[in-house]
Amino acid sequence: MSEQFNYDEDPLNQQRIKVLLVDDQPMIAEGIKRMLTEEEDIDLHYCQDPVKAVNLASELEPTIILQDLVLPDIDGMTLVRFYRGNDTTKDIPIIVLSSKEDPAVKKEAFQYGANDYLVKLPDQIELIARIRSHAKHYLLQLERNAAFFALREMQRQLQKTNAELERLSSLDGLTGIANRRSFDKAIEKEWKRAIRDQTSLSLILIDIDYFKPYNDTYGHLQGDECLLTVAQTLKEHATRPADLLARYGGEEFVLIAPLTCKDGAMKLADNLQNSINKLALEHQSSKVADNVTISQGISTFIPTDDMDIEDIIKFADKALYQAKELGRNRYIFYSS
Ligand code: GH3
Ligand code: MG
Ligand code: MG
Repeated sequence: MSEQFNYDEDPLNQQRIKVLLVDDQPMIAEGIKRMLTEEEDIDLHYCQDPVKAVNLASELEPTIILQDLVLPDIDGMTLVRFYRGNDTTKDIPIIVLSSKEDPAVKKEAFQYGANDYLVKLPDQIELIARIRSHAKHYLLQLERNAAFFALREMQRQLQKTNAELERLSSLDGLTGIANRRSFDKAIEKEWKRAIRDQTSLSLILIDIDYFKPYNDTYGHLQGDECLLTVAQTLKEHATRPADLLARYGGEEFVLIAPLTCKDGAMKLADNLQNSINKLALEHQSSKVADNVTISQGISTFIPTDDMDIEDIIKFADKALYQAKELGRNRYIFYSS
């Protein structure tokens, strides 16, 4: 069984309808007012002076404009064009009130943007029905627009939040530099790019020397502080746009240096070595110096399709192991 449509339960019909009547004749206004007086949800606003009509309409933002066509000083057609050219009134339904049924006038009115055409004085039932019909469509349109803007704003917020989440999830919480996840993504990308362009890709693994004893001597908190300082110092040397310094894990860092050959990578490692030494962070329990030092393993590849991306990491790791074996506080390049 189909349900009976209940006019009063439709939320759009519970909104008030603001009608703006623009007509120079108070008699007409009186007649229209009498027709609408029983309609509790319809508020009639009357403007006798056509010169004030556009401003009043922008202020009032009516649901419907009832526009007389023949006026002194300014004609109704011109007003219709003004409403349509004004941002706040451009979509408000306009019912023009004409003194006669004239096809040429009617045509012109619709051309200028009127939505309906009635001859004065219209039949009461017809007037009310048309006001309600146009109002309903207009209010629905306003609601859709509002929902659309709200949705767009939500999408914008979501995008911002996602971008921030993405940023945070790519950074290491302690040191603020890229995390392991970022490294994995970046090395994959750079490896493929180096294969495609046949360019050198260098990788430097950096490990703080005697860091366990450092923690034991100065405490874990100062250990964290030391990691932060070392990370920030190393980062100052990852100056090229494609360079990426990441925390590889624990007290180990990794620097990806695309478009960098062996000599360039060695130079870079030398700078890193010196910059950490220059920090002169006291380290009493180090067996290699009085200050915090690092050991580094370097590998450089011009990779080809048949090579394994793991190799560049494996080689750098072997080089780092050698650097440790040879006494620490140094950098070693590994070649097979
Ligand atoms: P080596 O010179 O051979 O590298 O010796 P090491 O002591 O630096 O190396 P090992 O791998 O034995 O110890 C690494 C230490 O780094 C142990 C661990 O407690 C410390 N560590 C790892 N992550 C953190 C961290 O986030 N904060 C602090 N304070 N210490 C950390
Ligand atoms: Mg270490
Ligand atoms: Mg280590």
